[in-house]
Amino acid sequence: MIPVRYSIAAITPTLCALFGVRNPSACTEIAIPEILSFGNRKLRGKLLEKCLIFAPDAIGEHLLSVNPLLFSRLNQLADRQIPMLSVVPSFTPVCFASMFTGADPDIHGIRKYEKPVVQIETLFDVLAEAGKRVAIVSVQDSSIATIFQQRDLDYYPTENDLQVIIRSETLIKAGKHDLILSYQQEYDDELHHSDPYSQAAVQASNNHLEAFLRLHRCVRRAWQKYHHLILFSPDHGAHYDALLGRGMHGTDRPEDIEITHFYTLKKARWKLWQK
Ligand SMILES: [Zn+2]
Repeated sequence: MIPVRYSIAAITPTLCALFGVRNPSACTEIAIPEILSFGNRKLRGKLLEKCLIFAPDAIGEHLLSVNPLLFSRLNQLADRQIPMLSVVPSFTPVCFASMFTGADPDIHGIRKYEKPVVQIETLFDVLAEAGKRVAIVSVQDSSIATIFQQRDLDYYPTENDLQVIIRSETLIKAGKHDLILSYQQEYDDELHHSDPYSQAAVQASNNHLEAFLRLHRCVRRAWQKYHHLILFSPDHGAHYDALLGRGMHGTDRPEDIEITHFYTLKKARWKLWQK
């Protein structure tokens, strides 16, 4: 059976439902039914309190052929894995704008590789409206560090991917934020430099896995008393472009748009006895 694939824009209504806040005004997607029913069962009708979103650039299912262990490790960790589809054109700012507005590129307005500030409401805005604190940790000048500026949230631009992990760990332990979005880019950098299946690229994908494992451990320790979600959610995949002689993405071919997102949802420890 061919698995149902949801648009990456479905992340926003899914998180809104779990947090118990309204959808952003231009959101056109609906929440992912499997995650909602799982969330309801797992949290016994209670709302999500904290969330870490780890978004490594370009870690698509195309990597399954050269790095199957990455996916089996993620699968072991996660409670649910959900097949997703990027939006087209499958470029990072287009994809992240859809992921965090719940809307298609025609609605949020980023339709090519460009980084204007998103003008419509985002997940971050409706969370802020509900009194929740949001942090975005990403390498400075990256898409994610740029297109969500001018909002009521805390920005932590960093010099490199390693600083993203270190800063994210500090924020997770401090416990002041309800949603932390951590973005890394080494694999995407490498695939454009060599190709998506090169040894250096595969190593970069493993570095993202290590970073995720580190943040996963940190959250599981630091957020025990909260109902929490850890989400592994890349933006798009990539393919080898024979004309360019290196990796690329942006098209609607399967390697560029087929990705899997992984959800780990945990009930607060000290609340486990509660009805
Ligand atoms: Zn790229």
